[in-house]
Amino acid sequence: MIVCERVNRRLWPIHLVKSAVLHMAPWLLVWAVVASASALAADGSYTVKRGDTIFGIAQRYGIPPAVLAERNGLSRNSYVYTGQRLTIPAKFAAQRPASSTDAAAQNIARRALPSSIQRAIDKAPVRAGRWQYIVIHHSDVDTGTVKGMDKYHREVRHMENGLAYHFVIGNGSGMGDGEIAVCRRWIGQLDGGHLASNGQNQVAIGICLVGNFDEHRPTTREMESVRALVEALMTRCQLTPRAVKTHQQINIVHTRCPGSKFPTKNFLNSLQSPGR
Ligand SMILES: [Zn+2]
Repeated sequence: MIVCERVNRRLWPIHLVKSAVLHMAPWLLVWAVVASASALAADGSYTVKRGDTIFGIAQRYGIPPAVLAERNGLSRNSYVYTGQRLTIPAKFAAQRPASSTDAAAQNIARRALPSSIQRAIDKAPVRAGRWQYIVIHHSDVDTGTVKGMDKYHREVRHMENGLAYHFVIGNGSGMGDGEIAVCRRWIGQLDGGHLASNGQNQVAIGICLVGNFDEHRPTTREMESVRALVEALMTRCQLTPRAVKTHQQINIVHTRCPGSKFPTKNFLNSLQSPGR
C-alpha cells in the first residue's frame, strides 16, 4: 500500500482555507503599498526551466505564490512552460539569494531540534531493537497538514490508525516552513503504514515532508529539520546512517517518492552517526 501520493488535494479543511485568506489579505495590502512605492525600481525576469512550477519559482524568490501568479496574469495552479518569461516584482528580484534551494541541496545546516520535539522523541517508550529503518517520503502535493493527511488515510485509505507516518515536516503552506509534527504513531510506538510491505512497516519509522519534489526541491528549512529529526531518531533508536532510506530505496514496488529533486545523496552524506 503506497500512502504518500496525493494525500489531501481535495481535503483542505474549509477553516484552513478561510484562515489562509485572512492571513493573505493584509499581506497583499502590504505588497501593494510596497509595490507602488517601488514602482520605479526595475522588475526582474525569470525564464522558466523544465519542471518549474509557479509554486517552486515563488518559493525560490520568497514571493507568495499568489502574488507571483497575479503579477503575471496567472493563477497559482497555472501551467508554465519551458522558456516562458515571468516578471519578478522588483522588491523580490533585488533580494534574491543565489538560490536558497540549491544551497539547501549542497549544504544542509545543522540546526537544533525544538526542545518540545526532542522531549517527544525521548518520552516515547522505544523498545530496544524496535526500529531498523528511518524512511523519507514526500507528500506529493504542495500544501499539507497532519489533520488533512490523517483524514485522508483514515477515510479514503481505511487505515484504522490514521496518518501513516510517525512525523510530518511542513513547507510553509498548511504548516510552518520546517515545522515538525510528532504524530500519534510515534507517540504510541505503532507500526508505520507508509510502505508496501507489512514486514517493513513493522520496523520502519516514516517521515513525510510536505511538497512535490518531482517539481521542485524541498525548502531549506525542511532539509534542516529533517536532518535534525533523523539525527535525533538515530540516537534514540541506536541506528546508524545506513538505516536511513528514501521510500524509493526501500520499497518492494517501484515508487518515485520522495521525488527526483529530493537531494538524496547530499542528505544522506550530511548525517552523522550518534556520538560523533
Ligand atoms: Zn513515499
